[in-house]
Amino acid sequence: MTEFGAPLSEIHGIGPRFIFKLKKLGLTTVRDLLRHFPTRYEDFSQIYPIKDLEPGQEATIQGVVKEIGGRRTWRKHLYIVEALISDESGSIRAVWFNQPYIKNVLHPGRIANFSGKVTLSGEEIYLSNPTYEVLSEYRETKHTGRIVPVYPETRGLTSKGLRFLIKPVLDDLEELRDFIPHEVLKRKGLPELNKALNDAHFPANLDDAIAAKRRFAFEDLFLLQLTVLIEKLAIAKEKAAPLGLRSEEINEIIAGLPFELTESQMKSLQEILNDLRKNRPMNRLLQGDVGSGKTVIAAIAALVAAKNDGQTAFMAPTEILARQHYGTLTKIWADAEFGIGLLTSAEAKVFYGNGLESELKKTDFLKEVLVGKIKITVGTHALIQKNVSFNNLALVVIDEQHRFGVEQRKMLLKKSKSKTKNAGGIPNHTTTVPHFLSMSATPIPRTLSLTLFGDLDLSLITELPKNRKPILTKVVSPENRNKAYAFIRGQVHKGRQVFVICPRIEPGQMSETDPAKLEIKSVKEEFEKLSKNVFPDLRVAMLHGKMKLKEKSETMKDFIDRKTDILVSTSVVEVGVDVPNATIMMIEGADRFGLAQLYQFRGRVGRGEHQSFCFLFTDSASSATRRRLESIVKAKNGFELAEKDLALRGPGEFLGEAQTGMPDLAMTALQNLDLIKEAREEAFAILKKDPVLKNYPVLKERLLDFKKDTHWE
Ligand code: ADP
Ligand code: MG
Repeated sequence: MTEFGAPLSEIHGIGPRFIFKLKKLGLTTVRDLLRHFPTRYEDFSQIYPIKDLEPGQEATIQGVVKEIGGRRTWRKHLYIVEALISDESGSIRAVWFNQPYIKNVLHPGRIANFSGKVTLSGEEIYLSNPTYEVLSEYRETKHTGRIVPVYPETRGLTSKGLRFLIKPVLDDLEELRDFIPHEVLKRKGLPELNKALNDAHFPANLDDAIAAKRRFAFEDLFLLQLTVLIEKLAIAKEKAAPLGLRSEEINEIIAGLPFELTESQMKSLQEILNDLRKNRPMNRLLQGDVGSGKTVIAAIAALVAAKNDGQTAFMAPTEILARQHYGTLTKIWADAEFGIGLLTSAEAKVFYGNGLESELKKTDFLKEVLVGKIKITVGTHALIQKNVSFNNLALVVIDEQHRFGVEQRKMLLKKSKSKTKNAGGIPNHTTTVPHFLSMSATPIPRTLSLTLFGDLDLSLITELPKNRKPILTKVVSPENRNKAYAFIRGQVHKGRQVFVICPRIEPGQMSETDPAKLEIKSVKEEFEKLSKNVFPDLRVAMLHGKMKLKEKSETMKDFIDRKTDILVSTSVVEVGVDVPNATIMMIEGADRFGLAQLYQFRGRVGRGEHQSFCFLFTDSASSATRRRLESIVKAKNGFELAEKDLALRGPGEFLGEAQTGMPDLAMTALQNLDLIKEAREEAFAILKKDPVLKNYPVLKERLLDFKKDTHWE
């Protein structure tokens, strides 16, 4: 009996050469091998009598080898093996090109299955390059005469080779206990594990194969949903300090804003305020396009927390963004009666309201956080360092959470296991967790928000503030480059500023695998070119991730202060940065970016009173590329593009590094909204009855492995 978890090296009949090749496919255990599913199937299930064969048909025959021989063609280019095959109904020739060894395998007298194309030559038909399988009496056929699996292959390991390896392992496999509860399988009409494994590889018919694959896709989604729902239920059981405010006070805050909130901002704000009022922690994702006004909503939540004497930790993915959020908060709450702090690896400063701001030594800053003088702390990763502790952390806001791992989010939430204080300031013994608000301007397809962020409640901002002008967007072909440059110069002369985004920092090296790499525009080269040749009269600067923090922030500050006209940059300006005077976004190598990402770049402009433009440059002549880029022009919102990216580029685009290790099938299944919903319903139904899976020990065990494999823990 072969064990499911056994290493392949222990399997009799798989030699070191194969082990090496299998490893290249990422397969080291029996389980890996059996979960290496076919990408498709060929239907050879029908065995034809030779006399019924028709030219053009793909068919399988079963017959005896009557004669076989080989020869070189007169030009010596080809080696041809020819055999005569017979069954009760007749005979046919089989011909193989450049496979001389075949005549050593198929001796006259051998009975075998042959599958291949029936080809017409003159008046006569023959089988061209058929795959064959010699039949021994007791062996079930693997390659011919049935539905044949076709696998993703690697050099030197063909589908045929894989079938040879998989069949005996499968035949000898121990009986597995299914971890998906029987009732679920029944409701969903899915095959049980042992049958599904068999059917995925060697199905009796295509329907069985499809059902098997559906089961395995469901399986991964089911486990994913259990993971996130367990998390969600656990959070729902935690206690949080309720953060309430009288509605007059709320209205006063809203009325005091320099603008009117949009309808979806209002709706999202209501959802958030409702959550905050409860004694259970909020766990919510606020999604909205770039510039849709998420920060303001978070700022109001933070103010509500502060008015309840609670602290907020506000974490951003980059220093530039942290600084900008700090800027926004100190502007909106300019007359704050509490400290608003900024903490990055390089700086620590506090705003005390009424224009009072001071730089602090880090230790002093941390002290003010610890005693609760600083109510809102904006920062980068610096916030999750060990030395940061809060007095009464009530709210955690994370901007662009998908850039942080699940891990980091948890670390920040943990910080907060602070003691709540009762009215007298004496700590009591209930431990509370802070409310959690995650913000994302990266539109995430519905399928992914339901899975990867499936533990979060969702608020959506679906419109931009009314004062925004649409951005004129154009895909620019190489011959129009100079026209675009001339237009840019004209805009700069009118006082506007320009972003130029390049896909990489350094010029490309010659690459064997991707010769096109050399052509990818780099920040350094473009900076040279633009500053020296194209716009020697204008002020050009560059910005990229390899620069020192101080250089970066000075460059950004100069741009914000209009000391430079053109900023050549990598994707570091991708999220959040707000420069209302910048009206042109020019993107080099646009085809190198995902649509949703391009959409985000574009969102950097169109933030002020002036008409803005976005130019997408591509050297790709392919019309598919053009069409893909044109879809940005027509897109109404980022969600639409995200769905497109998902279909075109797969989910990898949306998953941070924290979520690697996702099984392939799940990756594909992540595009199947219906299956995701079904998996979620089933997972929920199980957990509702049995939140700790007491009655599902096999499932529980599998879930632990799954979490380990997919780095969810
Ligand atoms: P996001 O974080 O969603 O990208 P921000 O919150 O940074 O967007 O808002 C972008 C800009 O729009 C900011 O300058 C903000 O002050 C402004 N803003 C936000 N909401 C509104 C609104 N309802 N009307 C007008 N301007 C707004
Ligand atoms: Mg933002």
